[in-house]
Amino acid sequence: MLISMWKKLALVGLTATALVATAAEKPNVVIVATGGTIAGAGASTANSAVYQSAKVKVDQLIVAVPELTNVANVRGEQIFAIGSESFTNDRLLELGKRISALSKQADVDGIVITHGTDTLEETAYFLNLTVHTDKPIVVVGSMRPSTAMSADGVLNLYDAVVVAGSPDAKGKGVLVTMNDQIDSGRDITKAVNIKTSAFSSQWGPLGMVVEGKNYWFRAPVKRHTTQSEFDIDKINQLAPVEIVYAYGNVPPTLYEAAAAGGAKAIIHAGVGNGGMGKWLVPTLQNIRQQGVQIIRAARVPNGIVIRNADQPDDKYDWVVAHDLNPQKARILASIALTQTNSSQELQRIFWEY
Ligand code: GLU
Repeated sequence: MLISMWKKLALVGLTATALVATAAEKPNVVIVATGGTIAGAGASTANSAVYQSAKVKVDQLIVAVPELTNVANVRGEQIFAIGSESFTNDRLLELGKRISALSKQADVDGIVITHGTDTLEETAYFLNLTVHTDKPIVVVGSMRPSTAMSADGVLNLYDAVVVAGSPDAKGKGVLVTMNDQIDSGRDITKAVNIKTSAFSSQWGPLGMVVEGKNYWFRAPVKRHTTQSEFDIDKINQLAPVEIVYAYGNVPPTLYEAAAAGGAKAIIHAGVGNGGMGKWLVPTLQNIRQQGVQIIRAARVPNGIVIRNADQPDDKYDWVVAHDLNPQKARILASIALTQTNSSQELQRIFWEY
């Protein structure tokens, strides 16, 4: 039977570990597990792409990396055991409320969330917008399952616990540790679907974590966590917001279907600078007149959608998503529309967060 990397490490590491600090000196870090590849298992060590996610429980993850006990007092909670493609709005709310409750506990200094990589960027941004704490919250995943050769989950998890337990990580918003980097949960996106260097941030990482030490180079300037006007403790339902991906020949019926389905906003994943074919404009104007917000984002991975460039947003009463990709724009709009239905307010929120 194939022994997972988590088990092998447990066998080797337990004897090699020397405690370097007493329990009282170390930070208390809670690992909240949701599933994903970091808890995945394949049939052979050569399976780096074909495997089942969410198979290994959080307690096994912790036991398998005894080095964690050198840097923190760690305990685990298994909130879900799913692939992150199955995250829904309800799961985001449940996770957010649990993280918020943990962050208020005096015996919790930092929180790590293990997560599938596919929608990690959405959860990280959601928590960044809604959890009112300056304690470090770090979301982490891996690209290879625990049973694969050169599995990347162990070091990513160790780095996450280091960062979550570090006073210098406080007040920087929700963070992500993948591939030795510390990124902002706001900026990070999955950019490659097969390499361990899968994640990138258009404005660069905030820092690096190497051999248990953080090296910081920048800090986020957009509003987050303690400075956010959104509070997970007061949000019980997210607004329905849908994304329509634009392409040459995209039919207006896709946008009409989203509006008819009850969307309060449609994110137009536009070409270029959030652009669109001429034939779409009357349909989107009409949908806006029905009260649905139109938010222009871009299917181009990097850049900024400029207001009133490409389309006259002031005239049409549309909103631009600024530098947020369509999936992050959906997260922000679905939170913001629980508190306002004004397009001006929505645009302000897109500038500020
Ligand atoms: N699709 C699964 C998920 O997102 C596995 C991918 C991964 O974690 O890398 O949970």
